[in-house]
Amino acid sequence: RRCLEQVKKTRYLNAFITVTEDQALRQARESESRFLKGEPRGPLDGIPFAVKDNFCTENIETTCASRMLKGYVPPYTATVVQKLLDQGAVLIGKTNLDEFAMGSGSTDSAFGPVRNPWSYSAQYRERTGADPHSDWVITGGSSGGSAAAVASLSSFLALGSDTGGSTRNPGALCGLVALKPTYGLLSRHGLIPLVNSMDVPGILVRSVQDAATTFGVLRGVDIRDSTTVPHPPTPSVLSDDIDITKIRVGIPKEYHAPGLSPETLSQWGRVADLLERAGASVEQVSLPHTQHSIVCYHVLCTAEVASNMARFDGIEYGHRSTVDDSTESLYATTRHEGFNDVVRRRILAGNYFLLKRNYEQYFVKAQKVRRLIAQDFAQVFHAGVDVLLTPTTLGDAARHRDFIQEDNRTRSAQEDVFTQPVNMAGLPAVTVPTALSSRGLPVGLQLIGRALRDWQLLEVARWLE
Ligand code: GLN
Repeated sequence: RRCLEQVKKTRYLNAFITVTEDQALRQARESESRFLKGEPRGPLDGIPFAVKDNFCTENIETTCASRMLKGYVPPYTATVVQKLLDQGAVLIGKTNLDEFAMGSGSTDSAFGPVRNPWSYSAQYRERTGADPHSDWVITGGSSGGSAAAVASLSSFLALGSDTGGSTRNPGALCGLVALKPTYGLLSRHGLIPLVNSMDVPGILVRSVQDAATTFGVLRGVDIRDSTTVPHPPTPSVLSDDIDITKIRVGIPKEYHAPGLSPETLSQWGRVADLLERAGASVEQVSLPHTQHSIVCYHVLCTAEVASNMARFDGIEYGHRSTVDDSTESLYATTRHEGFNDVVRRRILAGNYFLLKRNYEQYFVKAQKVRRLIAQDFAQVFHAGVDVLLTPTTLGDAARHRDFIQEDNRTRSAQEDVFTQPVNMAGLPAVTVPTALSSRGLPVGLQLIGRALRDWQLLEVARWLE
């Protein structure tokens, strides 16, 4: 009830698209009676959680923040959501996002932009003199609604999706811990795809231990997602006596990227020093293909988008145009009315890259570059490095009016520079809040781990926390 009250009190954040109040209260009562009988199902029984609105939920509208899917009620529930429900966790609602998870600001939603709760904090107001009603800052994205829900105390945990950084980016800008597990450890069944070969369900929480607990519940093979792989059971409590002197930390030199704010840079240095003073071995490493990753991602993402979005034709799902004088014009007007311009541009770009005459030159080439990016990481880890320490975002959260005024598309793409190579390589990564900026907004740092070593990554993150 406290969480539902908080949802109502913070309506202005626009974090939720659907609030599932009745279901939540019913589930909470069931959970309470299990507790009274002394039979809770596990550590998440009774814990309120929110879900990004691109995960299918049976009998609950699932929109992807698009006009295209307004009114779409799936007949089934995504595996990761079902796992939380089976544990007794209480679903309180579906959260706002950039349409079809395309973006880094949570500003491009058919339901309007999400506001960062930190815009209303005393620190931000005092340090900047800003009026949060006009000068509010973005949450980052695309899982901004999930991040705002957890940061505003409307929820203890939220699911996001992470294709190029969409869980870690808003996690960092909202002062949260956000985990993107190794590709294949969490089922994608029921997650409406953006880029199938990179999409991973992400976890947004307020502590590393919460991330570990949730990860432990969600991981596992799913017969409905052929890309899932087994992971051994994890202990319920994360050890906090990791021997940090045995950890080798790599600092990728290419991550000193243009646009990195001086404050984030100095945070990065401060934390690297901290690790070194504690006895970890900290060394500079090189990931030479990093500079190509944004362009490579653009080709691969739009190509998969072009094919994934083909299913939204006005016949099977959601919106259908009334202009139906021919099948062709029904498709065309439905798609014109249903998708925002970001989605339409990506469909067009992707189809261009997939044209027979362009396929080799763009799509196949980008896949090769993707392999090189993945190999960069593999070499560093093969040489004995355990984790990489990098910034998560270029700086703290931008003011909404600045973010949408600049060339938003370019800015949005640049925002992914530290997060998105990880998705190309399928590796686990977590962002941990490490400081407040001079504007009183959170700054996070990212740890990247070896494939399938998510647990070790979380132990190092726990130390940092
Ligand atoms: N910002 C990236 C994009 O727009 C990544 C999005 C994501 O991770 N879902 O595609």
